[in-house]
Amino acid sequence: MKVLVLNCGSSSIKYQLFDSKSKIALAKGLVERIGMSGAVLTHHRYDGEKVSLVAEILDHTMGIEYVLAILLSKNHGVIEDKSEIGAVGHRVVHGGEDFSGSVLITSEVVKVLEDNVGLAPLHNPPNIKGIQAVTRIMPDIPQVGVFDTAFHSHMPPKAYLYGIPYELYKRHHIRRYGFHGTSHRFVSEQAAQMLGKPISELKLITAHLGNGCSMAAVDGGVSIDTTMGFTPLEGLLMGTRSGDMDPSVILYIMGKEGLILSEANTLLNKHSGLIGISGESSDMREVISSMHDGVKRAKYAFEIFCYRVRKYIGAYAAALGGVDAVVFTGGIGENSADVRRESLKDLSFLGLELDPERNAKGDNIISTDSSRVKIFRIPTNEELVIALDTEEIVREMKK
Ligand code: ADP
Repeated sequence: MKVLVLNCGSSSIKYQLFDSKSKIALAKGLVERIGMSGAVLTHHRYDGEKVSLVAEILDHTMGIEYVLAILLSKNHGVIEDKSEIGAVGHRVVHGGEDFSGSVLITSEVVKVLEDNVGLAPLHNPPNIKGIQAVTRIMPDIPQVGVFDTAFHSHMPPKAYLYGIPYELYKRHHIRRYGFHGTSHRFVSEQAAQMLGKPISELKLITAHLGNGCSMAAVDGGVSIDTTMGFTPLEGLLMGTRSGDMDPSVILYIMGKEGLILSEANTLLNKHSGLIGISGESSDMREVISSMHDGVKRAKYAFEIFCYRVRKYIGAYAAALGGVDAVVFTGGIGENSADVRRESLKDLSFLGLELDPERNAKGDNIISTDSSRVKIFRIPTNEELVIALDTEEIVREMKK
């Protein structure tokens, strides 16, 4: 079956068309600047062919129509007829407490997503727009929602409740949800394969370090704790997000700087993290390069980033009561030998021994042969998980 995977943002649509049997992405691309002047569609075919086109794309429906047109196009396409697409899988950011796995999208599911908009006001509305657009364009095609939060939905209350009055959890659903679940699940499963053991027997720590960063403690294939919380702001230092801090700091800054709620929100989500500390960039490559040039604030940003990863490795080794492997993924986790080295320095007391050469080369196994705990570098593939979940659910539906 061919599955179209969509990740709809407020002004963008990322897409990949998968052949779920071969697990190959036949084409992928990005529509940017939806609703703005100079919207652009960039399309890559599996054979390396690439094309960009500028168009007036007013909304998500038009964006998806353009995606279908390019997938069908004689020169750049990969299919001959729309009917070759058997299903559409959507990345949905927030499933709230309602979804513990991927689901076939029905009007009831859309209603629940709409009810959850308050929990993810930036992310869920464009996800819903994408679903509605597909319904408009291809009314009969089955659609599946794959949630960023689902993999963490089995965390125990001691991991997901905050130390605030319990009534607030009951009234407003304020609790830790966790995100990047699809990635943590994918790399956990890959790690189990690499270890040659059933995932049910393994204790894993996974670190997804990209623009957004999170770690998870995965016990027997179940996420029992993760660093992101009610929103993706909690936990590790990120490109532009602060991660963990004393909540009083926010109140104090608001008072001192006279900030209103939305400004404080922007400060913590867009102007903090690597960019806030370095004052230069949210891009880890640039932070590292400035650090090598002797820029002190870049060094602080790098060190804080790695120190948090290191602290959570310790915390999760304790939470799990042991660990079989630590996995690095995401743009930084996959590509930065410096970050991996600094985060894992002197952790041999936990059984973690990084092999400097394997790490520098970026091998998939980067621990030494004698390391009691394995260390892996595994490229993530969230879109493939979405495609495979979608195919499975649609196959079950048709039985
Ligand atoms: P997103 O979370 O948006 O999917 P990615 O997973 O692609 O982002 O990660 C983006 C981050 O990866 C950026 O901070 C970028 O600097 C970092 N990155 C990519 N390549 C390297 C590299 N070679 N060394 C260090 N960081 C890198």
